Amino acid sequence: MTVRVAACGLSDSGRVRSHNEDSFEIDREHELYVVADGMGGHTHGEVASRMAVEAIREFVRRAEDESDDTWPFAYDPRLQRHSNVLKAAVTLAHDQVLSAIRRDGTLFGMGTTVVGCLLRGATAAVAHVGDSRAYRFHDGALELLTQDHTWVNEQVVAGYLSEAQARDHPLKNVVTRALGGDSDVTVDVTEIALAPGDTLLLCSDGLTTMLQDREIEALLRKHAQGALNGACETLVAEANARGGHDNVTVVLLRAESGREGG
Ligand code: CA
Repeated sequence: MTVRVAACGLSDSGRVRSHNEDSFEIDREHELYVVADGMGGHTHGEVASRMAVEAIREFVRRAEDESDDTWPFAYDPRLQRHSNVLKAAVTLAHDQVLSAIRRDGTLFGMGTTVVGCLLRGATAAVAHVGDSRAYRFHDGALELLTQDHTWVNEQVVAGYLSEAQARDHPLKNVVTRALGGDSDVTVDVTEIALAPGDTLLLCSDGLTTMLQDREIEALLRKHAQGALNGACETLVAEANARGGHDNVTVVLLRAESGREGG
């Protein structure tokens, strides 16, 4: 089954910060969609998020164009090939951020979260590290596809904190995994079967710290029939209307139609 996808992305520095350390990529040719949220002093967050997005795009292009299955990463036979490609791409992006820090000591402390989607047929591979998220909007309901790699989310999963406590916790910004962080990184990958009409949302935490899931769901429902750009603009505008405390980035992709050519 071929799925025709409409996509749009928007990034904004928000109402408080002077630079935008988020990066995103929409590569229609390779059906690759990425959001990264950089961290580090000066402008290093921007460097890290841009470097990660470019490394992922380059690896996906090479894996596709050279159709050479030999690459120096583990292959998980439970996942489809393109999911393995995305996982390897994110792992490689981590290595590149680490190498940049090793080459230039002034970059010490930079890192980035990332969430990416690589679509093949109707199967979306979704990979993430850190607290950038992916959601699916299906039949009017929003479903979170990723688990934040944050200290507070680990406490919620373990039953020590409620979601409400986690939202206001002083350690809510502490990520437990990032590209450029510890020497090894574990990339979470999941595969989603997209149905016609489904929308995937990739976003940085500048959206999800300002809006709760049910608010994002209500906004997507309001824009379900309209152009996707309108939904992107509304999500960013709402995050800013709530205070825009952080850079905010959203990428939306919507599966427009079902079968083509049988
Ligand atoms: Ca952020």
